[in-house]
Amino acid sequence: MGSESESPVHILLVSYPAQGHINPLLRLGKCLAAKGSFVIFVTTEKAGKDMRSANNITDKSATPVGDGFLMFEFFEDGLADDDPARASLSDYSAQLELVGKQHVSQMIKNHAGSNTPISCVINNPFLPWVCDVAAEHGIPSALMWIQSSAVFTAYYNYFHKLVRFPSDAEPYIDVQLPSLVLKYNEIPDFLHPFSPYPFLGTLILEQFKNLSKAFCVLVDTYEELERDFIDHVSKFVLMRPVGPLFKNQKATATSNNIRGDFVKSDDCIEWLNSRSPASVVYISFGSIVHLPQEQVDEIAYGLLSSKVSFLWVLKPPLKDMGRAPHVLPDGFFEETSGKGKVVQWSPQEEVLAHPSVACFLTHCGWNSSMEALTLGVPMLTFPAWGDQVTNAKFLVDVFGVGIRLGYSQAENKVVNRDEVKKCLLEATVGPKAEELKQNALKWKKAAEAAVAVGGSSDRHLDEFIADIKKRDAVKF
Ligand code: UDP
Repeated sequence: MGSESESPVHILLVSYPAQGHINPLLRLGKCLAAKGSFVIFVTTEKAGKDMRSANNITDKSATPVGDGFLMFEFFEDGLADDDPARASLSDYSAQLELVGKQHVSQMIKNHAGSNTPISCVINNPFLPWVCDVAAEHGIPSALMWIQSSAVFTAYYNYFHKLVRFPSDAEPYIDVQLPSLVLKYNEIPDFLHPFSPYPFLGTLILEQFKNLSKAFCVLVDTYEELERDFIDHVSKFVLMRPVGPLFKNQKATATSNNIRGDFVKSDDCIEWLNSRSPASVVYISFGSIVHLPQEQVDEIAYGLLSSKVSFLWVLKPPLKDMGRAPHVLPDGFFEETSGKGKVVQWSPQEEVLAHPSVACFLTHCGWNSSMEALTLGVPMLTFPAWGDQVTNAKFLVDVFGVGIRLGYSQAENKVVNRDEVKKCLLEATVGPKAEELKQNALKWKKAAEAAVAVGGSSDRHLDEFIADIKKRDAVKF
């Protein structure tokens, strides 16, 4: 067992159908395939439809990636496009569990029957039932945690009551994590008693209830960035930092065209090519956050008065959210013509890698944070909820690559145009901008080293695949 000439291990990846979940799991899939595995990436047909039309991918046919293969498979979630259950995360999650369990179980049976048995199943959060299905079939499972190790540590400590967290009785207490204290408004805010989205906290904690069923937790981070937290968690679970996944060279070289975007990107690169080096502020709030219109107005006026060049992703609200599309102030396009560009979706990795980009005004989703850290781009932090508020704290106070601009939506504050202007200028010109850039370049270098052949993340990926093969060997 374990020789190079053997047939590849088959690994089943099951993703929650959201952009911020699909991107890191698909990136992991490409890395595992590049190293010789046969990876089957599964999510819902509704997501698959968008992915196919935006990215020119096909399902049920294996595409070579590096030394292995990647194949997509999509399953019906059993709901009409306009079913009201789609707007309720709790109803949708229950439905997904119902149909997803059957589908994943059947897939595992089909593979066993056709002599290509699944050796490992990996899921991302919001699908805590996947490891139960794997266990029923006697197959090892792993969790692809899609937030930071620090945030994992917070949830782990909360779930096991290892440290005190804010409660109804004491909502404003600090939380002592290894090597750092988080204020009540710096913890992942789904864990706070005042969270407007308590169900999300519950859903994430369901995964922690089932954690002992997964033999490993993979994280899109790297040792050099989050060593204290990885060491802390490793006392309790096998955590493997394998990021930045999007930067893995072998996977990128052979599968850069395999992407999971739901929306076709607008052309931004040609426009960026026309701008001076380090002059453009890139603005994006990820795939879900929809700012209040009043806040969009203040950002727009801040951009106008700062006169900085910008590329702004202002996407329409998600259909199920029932929100109105944003409008920009009268005359905004005329006044910023030539200096600014507004798009609905960008090829973000390429944008952040572009030499014209000076900084990133971001909602601090972990994927966006990891992309910017890896590409050496300083950030203006504008979190909305959940782990974003904790990521903002780390980007500013721990990693030294950010300036705090916005607050969690739970704080109900609007950042005014003067503050926006001040921070835009601070992050683009002058000594603070230079300090942030130097720190960002340090993390970029460390990230590149982690994913290089023999680097910390590359070794963790190899060891993870070796673990799967060892478990396979024991079965026979
Ligand atoms: N993204 C993109 N183009 C955009 C905006 C976002 O490709 O215009 C990608 C981004 O690169 C990241 C993902 O969408 O990989 C968003 O994930 P993140 O965790 O940052 O935020 P979420 O959307 O989950 O809130």
